[in-house]
Amino acid sequence: MARVYNFSAGPAVLPEEVLQEAAAEMFDYNGTGMSVMEMSHRSKAYQQIIDEAEADLRDLMNIPDNYKVLFLQGGASQQFAMIPMNLMKNGVADYIITGQWAKKAYQEAQKYGKANAIASSADKTFSYIPDCTDLPVSEDADYVYICENNTIYGTKYHTLPNTKGKLLVSDVSSCFLSEPVDVTKYGLIYGGVQKNIGPAGVVIVIIREDLISEEVYPGTPTMLQYKIHADNGSMYNTPPAYGIYICGKVFKWLKKMGGLEAMQERNIRKAKVLYDFLDSSKLFKGTVRKEDRSLMNVPFVTGNEELDAEFVKAATAAGFVNLKGHRTVGGMRASIYNAMPIEGVEKLVEFMKAFEESHT
Ligand SMILES: *Cc1c(COP(=O)(O)O)cnc(C)c1O
Repeated sequence: MARVYNFSAGPAVLPEEVLQEAAAEMFDYNGTGMSVMEMSHRSKAYQQIIDEAEADLRDLMNIPDNYKVLFLQGGASQQFAMIPMNLMKNGVADYIITGQWAKKAYQEAQKYGKANAIASSADKTFSYIPDCTDLPVSEDADYVYICENNTIYGTKYHTLPNTKGKLLVSDVSSCFLSEPVDVTKYGLIYGGVQKNIGPAGVVIVIIREDLISEEVYPGTPTMLQYKIHADNGSMYNTPPAYGIYICGKVFKWLKKMGGLEAMQERNIRKAKVLYDFLDSSKLFKGTVRKEDRSLMNVPFVTGNEELDAEFVKAATAAGFVNLKGHRTVGGMRASIYNAMPIEGVEKLVEFMKAFEESHT
């Protein structure tokens, strides 16, 4: 078995235990004589899989009863449209632009109403989170939208914005289940699972029940209405069945690891190994304002593009893969999601130290 240390931003590393279990169950899931991939989503065996996945997620995140959990498709990007189509009752929403994903959501929302950019960190290549203590929140805004962890730039909101009483909607794709969350602070939380939870093809939406209604943007397709999915237990049509099954296994793995508080502690410890090195290195440096650093995505540069490319190549050859930064930013980025073991980061830092010694 030749596993690498995979620092991909997404689809990304999954817990080996989960992959092994899935492999063991590939031909015969729980005595059914078939793989979960081959199973009717209306079967008893599958109903149990999705019910347990939801129950375990509710447990992990402490999701109150007045929130629905939906397992949908279309990726996080489909939510850029679904959110305004379903939630813009007044036709107004405020967006905080902290990177490319927030910007795309903002641009999509403009198709369905008046979307206002009320803050942005574009002036410094999205290397920080703007001050959100006293924003010009629109009086008639249906919600304030944030991208909580900026996968490409490596920033994270460590305090939520003051929305002045307006509903908060958050894209948590790249920090999903990385730390405890107070769900009651949000109207809607969503994320594509391929960053920190499971295989691409599933997006999880956690939405407060009173926000789900038939009153949607005119012409909204049936498949893009939260109410349809909520009323049908995420099975209005065939759900991304195998993906949900893997997510369910990851939820159980997280519970076994001690839940989200334990994960947060582990993630802080793990990220510190890399950040401490970056702060002391003569060659590499982090690109994000310290107080806004993400625990999940760590971008860094040498300051020399050729040297960056040489580093990425050497790292790949040594078994540290997918370290190239996003094409819009350059440099390097190590995504160190829940399933990245701390040894992976320690070994990466050893490798970086050796590279630094031979290049300074
Ligand atoms: C990856 C990502 C997206 C886009 O996800 P898709 O599932 O590819 O649509 C959106 N938001 C964030 C924060 C992401 O990291």
